[in-house]
Amino acid sequence: MSARRGPRIVLLGKQGSGKGTQGVRLARHYGMQHLSTGQMFRDSAEVGVRAGLEAKEYMDRGELVPDDLVIAVVEERFGNPGEVHPGFVLDGFPRTRQQALELDRILGEHGLDIVIDLEVPSDVVVERMRSRGREDDTEESIRRRLALYESETKPLVDFYRDRSLLVTVDGLGSEEDVERALLAAIASRFGAP
Ligand code: ADP
Repeated sequence: MSARRGPRIVLLGKQGSGKGTQGVRLARHYGMQHLSTGQMFRDSAEVGVRAGLEAKEYMDRGELVPDDLVIAVVEERFGNPGEVHPGFVLDGFPRTRQQALELDRILGEHGLDIVIDLEVPSDVVVERMRSRGREDDTEESIRRRLALYESETKPLVDFYRDRSLLVTVDGLGSEEDVERALLAAIASRFGAP
């Protein structure tokens, strides 16, 4: 078995910036797990798992799920080595400074390789969310989530820039174009796959 490991990636970016779509593509490209906390909560709510049902109440209102609940779910997933080897794409986590600090703790000595800010203007993401029409994509929820992104999540751009992990990638263009730009950014940090 090869000892080579894949990149440990965090995708930052507004709701509707394409983190989910690109997260899936990147994970497929590198043969690694795509871990979306939003998707984990939606899946566990659907099958009636308590953490998921609890999270759903916040999600439906467009609020952030409380840090302890999110961290417990992530920690459980990361407790399974198959989730983190050879590498991973985290999408939607961390979303607060507390979550970022807890992620450092969970990862221990082998920290992140790259944090990518997928940049898309607000008017574009609002349009994308309106047309996507997910259960929590109501006007009120979209507005609230974007405000929370600005106040809670955007500060992580500086947090990771200070740690020399941040790269910004333009999220406009076709899915293929954006994936190419992401792969180039990752290769510049981590080397080609
Ligand atoms: P979006 O990027 O459009 O918000 P997600 O699937 O990433 O879509 O998240 C949906 C919802 O799940 C969020 O609005 C929030 O309520 C909850 N959520 C997901 N990840 C987190 C997190 N890391 N911290 C707090 N809440 C989260």
